[in-house]
Formats: sequence, C-alpha cells, structure tokens
Amino acid sequence: MHIHIVGAGLAGLAAAIELEAQGHSVNVFESASQPGGRVASRIIDGHIVDAGFQILLTDYPEAKRLLDYDALELCNFTPGSMLYKNDKFHTIGDPFRNPKDLFKTLLAPVGSLRDKTKLLAMRRNILGASLDDLWVRDDLPTEKLFENYGFSDKIVTNFLQPLFAGITLDPTLQTSSRFTEFTFAMLAKGSSAVPAQGMGQIATQLSQKLSPETLKLGSEVAKVTSSALTFADGTTQKADATLVATDVSTASKLTDAKELPDLARWHATTSVWFSAPEPPFTKPYLLLNASGKAPINSVAIMSNISQRYAPTDKATIVASVPSSVEQAPTAITNQLVDWFGPQVEKWEVLDVQHIRKAHPLQKLGYKRPGYLHSNNGVWFCGDYLAEPSINGALRSGRIAAKKILNALSSLT
Ligand SMILES: Cc1cc2nc3c(=O)[nH]c(=O)nc-3n(C[C@H](O)[C@H](O)[C@H](O)COP(=O)(O)OP(=O)(O)OC[C@H]3O[C@@H](n4cnc5c(N)ncnc54)[C@H](O)[C@@H]3O)c2cc1C
Repeated sequence: MHIHIVGAGLAGLAAAIELEAQGHSVNVFESASQPGGRVASRIIDGHIVDAGFQILLTDYPEAKRLLDYDALELCNFTPGSMLYKNDKFHTIGDPFRNPKDLFKTLLAPVGSLRDKTKLLAMRRNILGASLDDLWVRDDLPTEKLFENYGFSDKIVTNFLQPLFAGITLDPTLQTSSRFTEFTFAMLAKGSSAVPAQGMGQIATQLSQKLSPETLKLGSEVAKVTSSALTFADGTTQKADATLVATDVSTASKLTDAKELPDLARWHATTSVWFSAPEPPFTKPYLLLNASGKAPINSVAIMSNISQRYAPTDKATIVASVPSSVEQAPTAITNQLVDWFGPQVEKWEVLDVQHIRKAHPLQKLGYKRPGYLHSNNGVWFCGDYLAEPSINGALRSGRIAAKKILNALSSLT
C-alpha cells in the first residue's frame, strides 16, 4: 500500500513511523523546510529559540513510547516553581521529590495551609486513578474543578491559574478539567524537560526514524481528495489513502470535510525571547507571575535548564503570555524591569512570537477519537482530534495510522 501524509508535525511523523513499521510505503509532504510544525527551534545570534515556550512532560505515554530520551539529553526544570508576588520571589517546591522544599512551600504566600492540604488531596485523587479513568471523569471548566476541590480564590489566583494558564493557554480556566487533571498527573509523575539542544530535536529524532526518501520537505499541498493530492505548483499524485496531518484550520481549507470548521477555534500565545549578559537567577525553576498584574504569565531562563540554549557568557530568557499581546515586547519588558531592575535594560530582544493558532480549543466532553475519516474519504489526524499537546499529536498520528491500515486491509 502507498499512503500520502500531508504535514510533518508530530502527528504526521508519528503516523508515518507507524505505517512504515507495518511495512507500507509512505510519503510525508511538508511545506516547511524542517519537520516538527509547532515544535521547532531556530538559532538566533547563537541562542536556541523554540517556537514559543514549550516543554516536554516526560511521563507522556506516547513520548515514552516513541522518543529516545537519552539521545535527546533531556534537561529538567526543578520540580515546583518560583512565584513573583508582593514584589518578591518565593519558591513552591514539590515536597514529594524535594523534601527540603517543604517549609519554603508551606510559608509561601500563595494560599492558606488548608489550600495546601487540598492540593495534597487533589494529588492523591488524580494519582490514585488510571490515566484512562481521568479521561472519562465528568468534564467541567477547570475553574469549576478547582472550586469542587475547595480551593480558595487566593491559591487559584496566585498559583493554579498561572500554572495551568501557561499549559492550556487559557487564562479564563474554561478548558476541560479532564485535560487539566491529565496534565497535573504528568507534572506530578514525571519531569518538565527540554532536549539539551532545543525542542526541535524531538521532531529531528522522529524524522530520523523514517526511510530516507519518505519525508519531502518544501512540498506545499494545495488540495486534497481521498485519492490524490494537488501541490501548489499544480502537479498531482495518487495514493491508496491520504492522511491530512496539518493543523485544523489548514486541514479545513485543503479539503471540503464538513466536520472541521467547527473544530477550527484557537487559543493564542505570545513569547518574547531575550539575550542577557547574565541570568537574573541561576536555579532551573519556572517563574510564575502571581502578582495579579498583566501581562506576563511565566518566565523561563532556558540556559539555566540547558546551557546549550545560550552562547558562553550569555543567558537565553523567554517570557510568555497565554494570549495575543499587541504591545509586546514593550509591555513585557517593562514588567521585567519591575521584577529584575535595571539589568533588564541590557537585555536584547531576540524574537517576538505572536502565535495566534497555538492550541486548538476543545468542547467540554470531547471524546478525543484521535482520527477522523471524513465523509469525503479523506483521513485526518492532529492534536485537535486528541488533546492539544505533544502527547495528543503523537497519539493521534498513531491511532489514525492503525485505522487506515484496518480499513485498507478490509478492502483486500
Ligand atoms: C506556543 C506553543 C506552546 C506549546 N506548549 C506545549 C507544551 O509545553 N507541551 C506540550 O505538550 N504541547 C505544547 N504545545 C502543543 C503542541 O506543540 C501541539 O499540540 C503539537 O505540536 C501539534 O502537532 P500537530 O502535528 O498536530 O500539528 P502541527 O505541529 O501544526 O503540524 C502540522 C504540519 O503541517 C504542515 N503543513 C501545513 N500546511 C501544509 C500544506 N499545505 N502542505 C504541506 N504541509 C503543510 C505544517 O508546516 C506543520 O509542519 C504548544 C504549542 C504551541 C504553539
């Protein structure tokens, strides 16, 4: 069988790996000059700059299945985080992994002692369930989930909102509680990490699992039907099946699948990357904004996590906002001056990233089938059919490949 895949993001790559492993011939047509889609890195003035601030949660089941973590030389954030609140920095540790952080955590001004015991109860409740069970629990807006666990407004505003807004890119906390609980489980069980040489290494490693001729970079597809692709230059190619692994908005444009327009809604994010002569702090913590003042959500000194993110004697810093910030980088830089003082005036902006299509929105109760076989005969995969994450994209690609093979084998 010969199968065409449009898009070499993580979903398309995972599908291609599965199809080739089952002995089929595959071509992956990718419009960009590198694979990875939304997971990519560039070098700017010797600094590694990822496509937005992204992390790999090492307990993602699909990532564990497909990726060689040793070869990626994963570098971990310290469990827990730093918070900026009342003009000071505070540490919230993970006392299960760093018992010495317990007192600092209890004393941090983020919530009452009662809130901290509620956090332990939430941890027990989530880790006591299997991942499959988490995905069939009642699906509520995340803010309602926090209310049901009995958290005070203080801990939600100071800690839970900045933490989960940074991950779900939804500052309003309306995102699915199932996704939030799944993410909480991943945070609690594994590490938050980046490959030593940037997030783009994830895609590089996946693409190296494919046969040399499989991946066709710089190949922009203009139209897709169940049996043929039309490229931007007007040429066409036929295959036994076609899997569209682009983002949902592009998938909708390339095909006339009626199911897609309803799924093509997005959360945006803005990231500003800086080169600094030295880091404002040296520990490998993620810093969350608990001050209640916009716009920054989080700051990561990426070169504290992996030195290779910056040239010698420099630091690479990324400040992120889970929405589109028109006045970035000025508003972000001004807030960094408030936090870190005049040293920020020596920081140089490396990149300003307005990513309007970052995470696809999902309706509450969405079943996450992983694939779509449209009435027009075209197959689809991507994070919008699973959950908006590295794990979701990889899972979707694998499931779609299996479904295509089942369907094709039933025809022979
Ligand atoms: C800023 C940001 C931060 C994120 N943070 C995290 C995080 O910390 N942790 C996490 O787990 N997830 C995170 N995510 C989510 C994760 O990156 C995505 O869910 C995942 O990468 C989506 O993969 P995909 O393969 O479904 O789609 P995409 O990555 O969008 O891949 C689609 C591919 O199709 C290609 N394509 C498009 N049109 C055409 C065409 N006409 N012809 C040929 N090719 C085409 C594109 O170039 C692209 O390579 C983040 C996403 C963003 C944007």
